[in-house]
Amino acid sequence: MTDSQNPGRVAVITGASSGIGAATARALAADGYRVALLARRLDRIEALATDIGGGAIAIQADVTDRSQLIAAAKRVKDELGGTDVLVNNAGAMLLGPFSSALYQDYRTMIEANLLGAITTTEVFLDQLKDGGGDIVNLSSVAGRTASQGNGVYAATKWGINGWSESLRQELLPGIRVTVIEPGVVDTELPTHITDDATREVIQGLYDVATVKAEDVAEVIAFALSRPRHLVLNEILLRPSDQLL
Ligand code: NDP
Repeated sequence: MTDSQNPGRVAVITGASSGIGAATARALAADGYRVALLARRLDRIEALATDIGGGAIAIQADVTDRSQLIAAAKRVKDELGGTDVLVNNAGAMLLGPFSSALYQDYRTMIEANLLGAITTTEVFLDQLKDGGGDIVNLSSVAGRTASQGNGVYAATKWGINGWSESLRQELLPGIRVTVIEPGVVDTELPTHITDDATREVIQGLYDVATVKAEDVAEVIAFALSRPRHLVLNEILLRPSDQLL
């Protein structure tokens, strides 16, 4: 797509400092969107915004802090004029066997993956209502299945799927809702796992991951590029050789 197809449209991407979020920011900028990059690591999103150019802005914001999201929304409104696309991508995957040792990880995932997406949407919704908008929620294969050791992560992604379906019904036809459910994608996601044994096993899977963040970004950009009378509500994508 050429940038003439999205003149002036604005995309807000959470978790834009790495992985799928950063790749999505690049893909949408290439499609002509002006992008607002949100994350906690300001140095990374500032460097990315500079690299992308074209009016991209970096806004330090923790999705677990509603006041930071309100401030971010105000900046987007003031500096970019509003929001057309919101990509709820920020998240953590802190896997491990269910035990009290990981109680803080459970809270982190629920607050970032689920409550973070809900709060970001609640805060940006008024801007999205200004025109035909889009909400893209990053779920996961773990939003459709569950397995030993991923219970709370799966709970956050099942939560995203349930909430997204309700949101879809409430917001149609003016705002489209799309859920993206990737399998293993080569990003830094597993490096944050605190349970050493689990991190080692999961990192092994990611070390040979064939699907790249750019592959997912391309799918997101494709979904957004569909004509307004059509919406891709749910997209499940895996590496061709991923069993579960
Ligand atoms: P990364 O770890 O590369 O990216 C996660 C992003 O989320 C980072 O930019 C991080 O930024 C941000 N983030 C985490 N916590 C917060 C927070 N509290 N506030 C703001 N930003 C936060 O992983 P991926 O790119 O792989 O993950 C992106 C999304 O895709 C996640 O929701 C993940 O669950 C989902 N996903 C990933 C899959 C994979 O295999 N990679 C598969 C299925 C789904 P910072 O630390 O700077 O704040």
